[in-house]
Amino acid sequence: MKINCYCGEILDFDIPDALDLEASEELQDSIIQGNFLVKICPACGKVVKPEITLSFLYNQGISKLGFIPELERSAFLAGEKEIQASEVVIGYPELVEWVRIHQASLDRKAIEIIKYYLLKKTENPDRISLFFNSSEGEHLTFHLYGLKPAEIGVSRIPLATYQKILKDLPRLANQEPFFYFITPPYVSVTRVALEKEE
Ligand SMILES: [Zn+2]
Repeated sequence: MKINCYCGEILDFDIPDALDLEASEELQDSIIQGNFLVKICPACGKVVKPEITLSFLYNQGISKLGFIPELERSAFLAGEKEIQASEVVIGYPELVEWVRIHQASLDRKAIEIIKYYLLKKTENPDRISLFFNSSEGEHLTFHLYGLKPAEIGVSRIPLATYQKILKDLPRLANQEPFFYFITPPYVSVTRVALEKEE
C-alpha cells in the first residue's frame, strides 16, 4: 500500500490481509510500543503512520477486530461507515488498550463499566481519556490523560471489583446506561455523554 508523506514522498507499506493478533507476539508488542505500521520518511525524516481501516483476527482466528482510524470516528458513530467485525476499536490508543485487555484475559465489557464509574468521579469526564493499562496481582491499573497537561493519572481498582462486575454482566447488559456502550461491536464508554456525579 502506498502512503503519501506530507512532504510528497511516497512510502510503501506492506500490510497483510489477515493480521492474526494471537499468532504473533511480535505484532502485539509492536502495537503496544507504538511501532506498528510506523515508518520514518527517508526524504524528510518525519514519522509516517497510515490512518487506514484494518482487520485483525483473534479468538483462534474466528473473530474479527475492526480498526477504524480516529479521523473516521464520527462517520462510524453516525452509521456512515460500515465494517464487518465482532468488535471495533477506533484509533491507535484504543487498539493498544484492546491488546492489553486481551493479553490480561479480561472482559472488555466489564473494563468499560469500571471506566464508566471512574470517569463519573472526575471533574470533567468529557475531557478525560481513560485506558486500561495492566493487571498487577490483586489490582487493575488504569491511566487517565487530560487531568493536568503532560501528566498521567493512575487509578488502581481491586480485582475483586472487576470480578463482581463480570459476574453481574448479564443483568447490567440490559440496564441503562450500560446497554448503550457495552453492546458490540463498539464496546466503549466514549459512546455515552458523562457528567460528574454530584
Ligand atoms: Zn516526508
